[in-house]
Amino acid sequence: MKLLLHTCCAPCSVYCIDTLRKEGIEPVLYWYNPNIHPYIEYKARRDCLKEYAKSINVQAIFEEEYGLDEFCKNVCNNLKSRCVNYCYPVRLRKTFEYAKKNGYDTVSTTLLYSIYQNHEFIKSYMEKLSEEFGIAFLYRDFREGFWKGHEKAKELELYMQKYCGCIFSEEDRYQKKIDKDMNISRHSIIIIQNKKNEYLQYFDKEWQSYLFLNCKLPNGKDSNAIISRIEDLLRIRKDNIEVKYCDSRKHKKFSQSAKKEKEYIHYFYKVELLEELENNEFKINGVNYKWFSYKELLQDKRIQEVNSDIVQFVKEIYV
Ligand code: SF4
Repeated sequence: MKLLLHTCCAPCSVYCIDTLRKEGIEPVLYWYNPNIHPYIEYKARRDCLKEYAKSINVQAIFEEEYGLDEFCKNVCNNLKSRCVNYCYPVRLRKTFEYAKKNGYDTVSTTLLYSIYQNHEFIKSYMEKLSEEFGIAFLYRDFREGFWKGHEKAKELELYMQKYCGCIFSEEDRYQKKIDKDMNISRHSIIIIQNKKNEYLQYFDKEWQSYLFLNCKLPNGKDSNAIISRIEDLLRIRKDNIEVKYCDSRKHKKFSQSAKKEKEYIHYFYKVELLEELENNEFKINGVNYKWFSYKELLQDKRIQEVNSDIVQFVKEIYV
């Protein structure tokens, strides 16, 4: 077997190379990662792999491309889907192209090692490329050895990156710290309406008020997390919950807990429950819930004191 192993960095390669060598397979490493930014980070990861490959006597090919401009141009229209729309495809396709031109009969990737990557997408995309190029795809679930490889990489004092690669993943990695530093609080607001056009509120003991269901998500838009939150709170099965992300609003207000003015970013989700909650008032898990018409939300003194901004946003978005 002549195996070309797309390699994203030295730490991820440790377990993959060890496993393959135990099976009697000698990989050739292929570095092509124009998704790593900024340049200092690109250089640190590349140079670490160069040294590591030399130290364990494995052949490595370095396809150099520091691609910040090209990367940003290709992902900026849809940042949330950047991994599957551009980042994985561009790197894996190039690996197959190189393999084809240079007589390799098998391709694999260290991306199959990370527990943080979209494993299923990578696997199925590699299978497609394998068919297209007529080159075998060697699949291994290298995630099995994630912590073992991680420990060994630390012992070897390899350069350990703090984020996936692109500048957007750096922001994701530090989002909580950035928010704290900038005094920003992010909340997802869950708008559940029944057939009578009433809005579901829960009674919040800290605020002593009825509020829309909500949760904190580091990066806002995440419908799956909202579904899990509703399932958890209202004991409704996932397949009976339909969630649609609608819009976001930014504003400043006084924080009761922090005792200072903070910037709030609210992400609004419209939710349809296929299983009706019929009673006007009910209790689940010790929490009181109640349906309010929009007029009632406006007339409730306490809701207006603590939550009039959200009620207003809901009007702009839905009513
Ligand atoms: S998060 Fe990682 S996989 Fe996704 S686009 Fe950025 S570098 Fe690529």
